[in-house]
Amino acid sequence: MYYSHHQEKHLIQRAGWLRASVLGANDGIISVTSLIMGMAASGASTQTLLITCVAGLISGASSMAAGEYISVKSQVDIEEADLHTERNELEKNPDLELKELTHIYVLRGLQPDLAHEVAVQLTAHNALEAHARDEIGIHENTSANPLQAAGSSALAFSLGALFPMFAILLSPEGFVGKTVMIVGVLSLAILGAVSSYFAGTSIIRGSLRVTIWGVIAMAFASFIGSFFNVSTF
Ligand SMILES: [Zn+2]
Repeated sequence: MYYSHHQEKHLIQRAGWLRASVLGANDGIISVTSLIMGMAASGASTQTLLITCVAGLISGASSMAAGEYISVKSQVDIEEADLHTERNELEKNPDLELKELTHIYVLRGLQPDLAHEVAVQLTAHNALEAHARDEIGIHENTSANPLQAAGSSALAFSLGALFPMFAILLSPEGFVGKTVMIVGVLSLAILGAVSSYFAGTSIIRGSLRVTIWGVIAMAFASFIGSFFNVSTF
């Protein structure tokens, strides 16, 4: 059988990794920029700010990697346990499982006879795959690799944290806090716009949303940091 093959662009396929890396980079910009601004407001020297920035990059990237690994790994464990149960059920009760699959297709809108026929053919083709996809909702797209997820979110966070780091390095003497803030706001605005563009959603809204939340975090950090400024006592 031959079909004329028509394939439209689907945003959801690239949404996963794009979302993860943009969120990681946003985190890197917001948390490290806020950290630096808090420290700058307390009157810390440029050298202290740079050390803080490196420490913030390392601790943030490690915590992103650990968090992502644990979250993806537990998802994978759940999927594997589900598949294991399903495989056992298919061996023990193939008839019940066929009925179950038929019922799923009936609920999805097929006539009972056709649903039965579809269930029989898919079971013959690959019973576990059919149950995994249509009963549990697992297919190739949904299963991620924990190490890959950990590595890419740590990388994304580090890339985000490079913005405040370069801002400190390139800032004129005495303006480090302001330079870091401006670079932080601009990079968030640009990143928000780029991610909205790729996600196919409103660029202005996406950009504003991430920028506003970033500014709130930075302002809060500066506010707290200013309590520790020795020169104001
Ligand atoms: Zn089943």
